Amino acid sequence: MEDPIRFDVWGTVRKGANEPAVQWLCGSFPWQTVLKVRISVNKSTTQSVPISIAERKSWSEIEMLRRDSPPWLQSFEVFQEGYKPSHKERLNYCSKHDFYSAGLGCNVCKGFYLP
Ligand SMILES: [Zn+2]
Repeated sequence: MEDPIRFDVWGTVRKGANEPAVQWLCGSFPWQTVLKVRISVNKSTTQSVPISIAERKSWSEIEMLRRDSPPWLQSFEVFQEGYKPSHKERLNYCSKHDFYSAGLGCNVCKGFYLP
């Protein structure tokens, strides 16, 4: 049996919101260097490149983050763990759960996910 899926979040950063975004992301991904975070945040504000906001979360953590998302976030997209915006073409989108999944149909609809 496979394990129920977890979720990743990708998003873009609002123009001018570099500092709060860098601080938040450094807190969430402490293993990344500040310089690396700064570079990706800068790319996101200037070229709208999506960056990883959260990884391997449960659905309830995703719902909480969606409800209370940081104000510097411009977009908020939820993916099956391990997938990202550049994979969208080959993913399924569920409008009910606002979620991109691989394989057949939405894992949340099917009930095969970490709640
Ligand atoms: Zn669904």
